[in-house]
Amino acid sequence: MSITVATLGFPRIGPRRELKSALESFWSGKSDAQALLAVAADLRAKTWTRQRDLGVDHIPSNDFSLYDHVLDTSAMVGAIPAIYGWSGGEVGLDTYFAMARGAQNQDETEQAGCGHGHGLDVPASEMTKWFDTNYHYLVPEFAEGQIFALSSTKVVDQFVEARDQGVDTRPVLLGPVTYLKLGKSKAQGLDPRTLLDTILPVYAEVLNRLAEAGAQWVQIDEPCLVLDLDKADRSALHHAYASLAKTAPAVKVMLTTYFGGLVDNLETALSLPVAGLHVDLVRAPEQLDVVIARAPAELVLSLGVIDGRNVWRADLERLLDRLEPLVAGRRDWILAPSCSLLHTPIDLDAERSLDPDVRTWLAFAIQKIEELATLAKALNHGRASVADMLETSRLAAASRRASSKIHDPAVAERMAAVTGAMSRRASGFGQRRAAQAPRLGLPPFPTTTIGSFPQTEEVRKARSDHGKGVIDDAQYESFLREETARVVRWQEEIDLDVLVHGEFERNDMVQYFGEQLRGFVFTKNAWVQSYGSRCVRPPILYGDVSRPAPMTVEWWRYAQSLTARPMKGMLTGPVTILNWSFVRDDVTREFACRQIALAIRDEVVDLEAAGAKIIQIDEAALREGLPLRRGDWKAYLDWAVECFRLSASGVADQTQIHTHMCYSEFNDIIAAIGAMDADVISIETARSKMELLDAFADYAYPAEIGPGVYDIHSPRVPAAEEMADLLKAARTRLASGQLWVNPDCGLKTRKWPETRAALINMVAAAKTARQSVG
Ligand code: GLN
Ligand code: ZN
Repeated sequence: MSITVATLGFPRIGPRRELKSALESFWSGKSDAQALLAVAADLRAKTWTRQRDLGVDHIPSNDFSLYDHVLDTSAMVGAIPAIYGWSGGEVGLDTYFAMARGAQNQDETEQAGCGHGHGLDVPASEMTKWFDTNYHYLVPEFAEGQIFALSSTKVVDQFVEARDQGVDTRPVLLGPVTYLKLGKSKAQGLDPRTLLDTILPVYAEVLNRLAEAGAQWVQIDEPCLVLDLDKADRSALHHAYASLAKTAPAVKVMLTTYFGGLVDNLETALSLPVAGLHVDLVRAPEQLDVVIARAPAELVLSLGVIDGRNVWRADLERLLDRLEPLVAGRRDWILAPSCSLLHTPIDLDAERSLDPDVRTWLAFAIQKIEELATLAKALNHGRASVADMLETSRLAAASRRASSKIHDPAVAERMAAVTGAMSRRASGFGQRRAAQAPRLGLPPFPTTTIGSFPQTEEVRKARSDHGKGVIDDAQYESFLREETARVVRWQEEIDLDVLVHGEFERNDMVQYFGEQLRGFVFTKNAWVQSYGSRCVRPPILYGDVSRPAPMTVEWWRYAQSLTARPMKGMLTGPVTILNWSFVRDDVTREFACRQIALAIRDEVVDLEAAGAKIIQIDEAALREGLPLRRGDWKAYLDWAVECFRLSASGVADQTQIHTHMCYSEFNDIIAAIGAMDADVISIETARSKMELLDAFADYAYPAEIGPGVYDIHSPRVPAAEEMADLLKAARTRLASGQLWVNPDCGLKTRKWPETRAALINMVAAAKTARQSVG
């Protein structure tokens, strides 16, 4: 028996975000393609040798991407929508980036000093989240009569590139069934799965070319195997792998699944004619025994035992306790992270200023590979061969279990005292509305905004100067007060009804709160790719959460002191804070969320005590926390809604609670949205032309709604008539008395000129609507 180590993919962006700099420099025309490709090749070379030096036996290639691996797959099979003007042959960088980012016409791009547009004026492909991660991929788009042809040899080239550097790699491909399922078609009734027979020859060609170049194994990712599949999906999988086994017999396929358990798809996975199977034992540890019991003896199993989705150090001895009895048999085993390490930061060594205790509990991509190497060594040569490493791991686990930084008895006591009544408002919506209306004195179709106003160059500069110590606290504070005063005055001038303070003091809607709560740490360099060159540094929620002091009350008080109109208190909700953080793995998500909810509740109560009549609790990320399997939705929605209510229900009837969600699919979660029991919800509806209000109408949503009347994702300024028309469309679905008037989302990414013009038009549209109700 022998135990080897695999990784399934490594972060691409580079330890100092070298790829980001190279891409952005290329896009702005400051450097050429050759410079970009040189940086990319250098990152790949370093990543390969680093993994080899760390003891990885199965090193991936083709996990690298200049933008996105799903886009790479579209390039590989030549699925390039006609608008990009591609005429066959190798997909070049200009086509590739036009799909990724859109392209402007020649004149404009030349003005911007960039010659890559080639006369195109096309939007980017649609982008959406990769399973339940915060990584975004470009959605493949298939045409009527779609044909496929090998149009990028990147996977073969990069295998050869590594081979020439003396590194034998296992190329990674996104599998044909998952790829097709992620795609869409504008053609009526075209089911992408029917394209399987057309796409398989391209996959076979790629596999055969890889075999010729010397590849023995190829990792084919089929994460769709952890989703709810229907019969057609399963037969697509059977058909695909039976066909590839015939047409490309020379390579061994490591069929790779992640982000969950196989459950009812286990049978399917085990019956495919492949040489190996990778399973996620972090999300679904319980599947280990059944996979082993049922797997044919010759199937090579790859065990995803180290968490590729989170930042915690593993308890290696506990893992060994579990693994040792299993691997005593004759099989060969592969140990791996649960999924690609794409979703973790690269190297903890780059993080010098973290709390030293918290630091010992963490493991980023590099450290996770070290953990795997340690496990493999212990299994191959006995625990004594890695005694030091195991000792360090044991001490870290013990310190984490016992640390007073994590376990706060006061929080435990509060959690134990939570009652069901705490997540219920005193009265139903009807009574609350009656208590709120006279205090607020709002006209029909009241106007408001979602919270943030443009984060201008000056705002960002002041923040960064303050961070660097160039300006002191007092200077920064007075700058922010001026900005706030200006935006309050301006909102009065254009006659908005419910005002906001503009959120100039906030760097980010989660970070701003995390930094003031106990239980979170923030990193300096722990970047994770979100899409293309964009990276985020999620907060790390490591311990019990509490709120040592009010977080927003002073800013609210100041802003309200400037106006007689109602000023909204503005908070981020517990579910959103949770979903946009790395979360502790020693308690359930539900448990952690409830603690955050209690902290936000304290803030809500304090805002009310300070005089706030309206408090908005944003839940921008509630929907994206939905589990991958439908069967798990209810449990999630139950606790998520309960946590929101816990945060919102500490106030009296007369205090109006708003929530905001910036997305547009509500059909399948409308009951949960109703159960949140907010007095007012603002949502994104402009792009769907109010169609999604149907969900609210069908549900007979009782409370008030602010359907976004303009899309804040583009600088375009809609005319007042256009917004008035949208309001009319809204009124065919909901009662006039239910409707508020607001943009789709916050305005922080917009510039002032378009913001001014659009909001003035928006107020005009509301006034037009008011005339019709007298
Ligand atoms: N209040 C936040 C803002 O306006 C909401 C942002 C969001 O929903 N993403 O910026
Ligand atoms: Zn929003």
